[in-house]
Amino acid sequence: MLSSRFLLMIIHLINPSHVSFGVGVITPRWLYVLASATPAPYGTPALIDETLEPLDMATIRRGDVVGIGIHTGNALRGYEIGVAARAAGAYVVYGGIHASLFPDEARELGGAHAVVTGDGERVWPEVLRDCVAGAPRDQYAGGRIEAETFLAGRWDLLPAGRYMWGSVQTVRGCPKHCSFCSVWRTDGQRPRARLVDHVLDEIVELRRRGFRFIALADDNFYPVTLGDLRMAARRKDPAQLERLQAIRAERFALMDALAQLPEDTVFFTQITMEAAEDPEFLEAMRRAHIRGALVGVEAVTPEGLKDVHKDFNESGEALVTRLQAFRRHDLHVLGSFIFGLPSDRPGTFDASLAVAERAGVTFAQFVMLTPFPGTLDFAAWEKSLGADPPCVGGVPLSRHWLIPQAHRPKVYMDHPVMSPDEIRDRTQAVWDRFYSLPSIWARSRGAVSSLKARLAFVLISKIYRQMYANTGIATDSARVNRSARWARLMAVPCRRLFAGRPMPDLRIARATAESSSPRTLPVV
Ligand code: SF4
Repeated sequence: MLSSRFLLMIIHLINPSHVSFGVGVITPRWLYVLASATPAPYGTPALIDETLEPLDMATIRRGDVVGIGIHTGNALRGYEIGVAARAAGAYVVYGGIHASLFPDEARELGGAHAVVTGDGERVWPEVLRDCVAGAPRDQYAGGRIEAETFLAGRWDLLPAGRYMWGSVQTVRGCPKHCSFCSVWRTDGQRPRARLVDHVLDEIVELRRRGFRFIALADDNFYPVTLGDLRMAARRKDPAQLERLQAIRAERFALMDALAQLPEDTVFFTQITMEAAEDPEFLEAMRRAHIRGALVGVEAVTPEGLKDVHKDFNESGEALVTRLQAFRRHDLHVLGSFIFGLPSDRPGTFDASLAVAERAGVTFAQFVMLTPFPGTLDFAAWEKSLGADPPCVGGVPLSRHWLIPQAHRPKVYMDHPVMSPDEIRDRTQAVWDRFYSLPSIWARSRGAVSSLKARLAFVLISKIYRQMYANTGIATDSARVNRSARWARLMAVPCRRLFAGRPMPDLRIARATAESSSPRTLPVV
């Protein structure tokens, strides 16, 4: 028999954000996965995504459970919510990368009753059971669960007409070790690839609901490179070679399955640049309707690549050639560049813009080097600040995410030749030039064909810039607010461009082991 307290309680799952746009670009997958992990007797969780609209605190009552997922960028807003929810008498539980790295911080500053570290889906029912019993533990170790047990999202809970893209994960973990990235340390270096049928079922459900644009929200969609296979063969390590070949074969099986989806389906993912030297893989991506990928270019010089431990990337002309290879397979590249690396010089900004333009990348993002916790860069930077780091408003710089947004510095690491303002101004100028109307219009010609599609391309480019450049780089809050308002206005017509016709009767053959086509493994 359920207690009355149990029946009255509501589970709130909250994705914090200090800016709301009314419409979201990509569905925050974790909300829907954790909703799946919530046992039915607890009722349907209330999902709140503050990138759509701010939380109404009046909805949280004594005895409710409030689950807050945080990464470093939204931790401070998450803590504000947690403190207020605890004051309202709710049980407050944190999860996500940042909470996994700083569980004590969530307790000290965010009002946490409990923190879940690692993958949350398996341990979540236990957390709820303990909250209902009035005795949540301080911490729950979610660990790294195996891919067979990854859960699909509860897409039946999606609010109608609020997101442009669906999101599905196919693999967790990345074998690389880039110095600015925490993925390989938090999700691990062993790729955990989901079963093809599980991925397919989830995608079909989203397509039935009218999502024809879907992000494959993977750490690295190309976890095994031809170079990895060659190296395993050279080392005469048959077990490792076999393991890598199996992962590669699974990727192809997945792409074969995705190829069956309706022609107008569009996937976007993230991969390393090494995929450019693997035409068989790129061709399979094209057949699988994967039309775009975020590619971490990071730096255009060998020195810059060394700075970020990304020596496997190319630089100079070879970089341009590699990026162009993606376009030959109908794959649009969102090139990601980092500014403020120790080897950067004032000329690096123009050189990077020139590479982005000559290489024909369709979209680009220019981010300033930021030491995010969990990365090698952060560890070295924190150490360099010493025992008594400088403070902003009483907050040590080494805890920069706790500095209120309006006062948060934009550049953290001392640079040998440029001031923080110079790096920020030059970065802003590169965004402005790449996304100027004439530049976007010129790019649209190579990206799409009809006039209508070119106009849509302009709208999408502009909204991308407003959402990701001005709200992240601008120092004055007036500019951030203006940008958020502008993005809000453009977001509604933009979402309509992405919406597809619902296909409630869509059926796709399951990709059982017997049905996936045999593939010749590459000669190494
Ligand atoms: S930046 Fe990309 S390639 Fe590098 S470790 Fe992170 S996920 Fe892997």
